[in-house]
Amino acid sequence: MGDVDLTVIDRNDRPLSAVDPAFGSAVKSLYEDEFGIELITGASADRIDTTEDGVEVTYRDQTGETGVTAGEQLYVFAGRTPNLDGLSLEAAGLEDRAGWVTDTMATADNPRIFVVGDANGREPILHIAKEEGYHAAENIVATANGASTAPYEPIIHRIVFSGLSVYPFARVGHSESSAKAAGFDVVTATRQASDDGVFKVKAVPLGLAKLVVDAYSGQILGYLGLHHHADVFAKLAQVMIETGLTVEEIPDRAYHPTTPELLDGLLRETKATIENR
Ligand SMILES: Cc1cc2nc3c(=O)[nH]c(=O)nc-3n(C[C@H](O)[C@H](O)[C@H](O)COP(=O)(O)OP(=O)(O)OC[C@H]3O[C@@H](n4cnc5c(N)ncnc54)[C@H](O)[C@@H]3O)c2cc1C
Repeated sequence: MGDVDLTVIDRNDRPLSAVDPAFGSAVKSLYEDEFGIELITGASADRIDTTEDGVEVTYRDQTGETGVTAGEQLYVFAGRTPNLDGLSLEAAGLEDRAGWVTDTMATADNPRIFVVGDANGREPILHIAKEEGYHAAENIVATANGASTAPYEPIIHRIVFSGLSVYPFARVGHSESSAKAAGFDVVTATRQASDDGVFKVKAVPLGLAKLVVDAYSGQILGYLGLHHHADVFAKLAQVMIETGLTVEEIPDRAYHPTTPELLDGLLRETKATIENR
């Protein structure tokens, strides 16, 4: 199969719209510059027509201007919603309105019915489905024993297989904005992958990473990375964040030249900012 010309129409201003704009902008440039993909952002598809050669999509940008793009094939990525039709939830007195499954995995309508995985519409990914299952089982036992149930509140651990997974995006824990919204006073450091020569040597010089740290305790609250091996760094970040380590406690000593030098740089910079405050 030869090359495929691709045009993407996205309603958001940039990809990865839920995190710091720098990451979405980096992904956008990556797709445009390295993959030759045309990204039309901040635009909503208004109309689809079939043509002799395929399809034509009419879209409208935020200023109200319309545009048309044509292609042989159309793929629609509109997210996923659980298919609950046919389960007769109403027979059990349940209605799948917003918030119908609580954070203990029990339904709001009936505390003896638990719903885990994609069906509850909370976070449709595999590791969450599995953990929710374990968690619900504990809450079911607690309910049977008349004990109180506990909420399932995982620390965010997300990976997007962007850039053919050569440049994945990873987020573990807080972003800067979510940490601030949660009441933390934070210091952050951002480094470009190109700040460390090893990424260039491995021919993967693009991307960036950011560390979010509690300004007082130095506890590591979040890591965001869009760079080669960011998915591997996510496991490292999970250990640092979920065990509550501080920047002081992490040895600043990666083997040179290896990609975790990027992390050392982030630790060094956040540590220095905290010391100089
Ligand atoms: C294209 C795609 C790519 C994905 N990629 C990833 C990824 O890279 N990483 C990741 O973490 N997650 C990924 N996911 C999401 C992941 O697959 C789901 O989050 C996960 O499978 C949810 O598990 P579950 O047990 O809740 O549901 P499911 O795996 O859907 O299992 C539900 C089961 O219930 C059965 N069932 C349905 N109705 C009934 C009924 N009435 N009676 C009996 N059985 C019934 C179904 O047949 C099915 O076997 C992806 C999903 C899709 C669709």
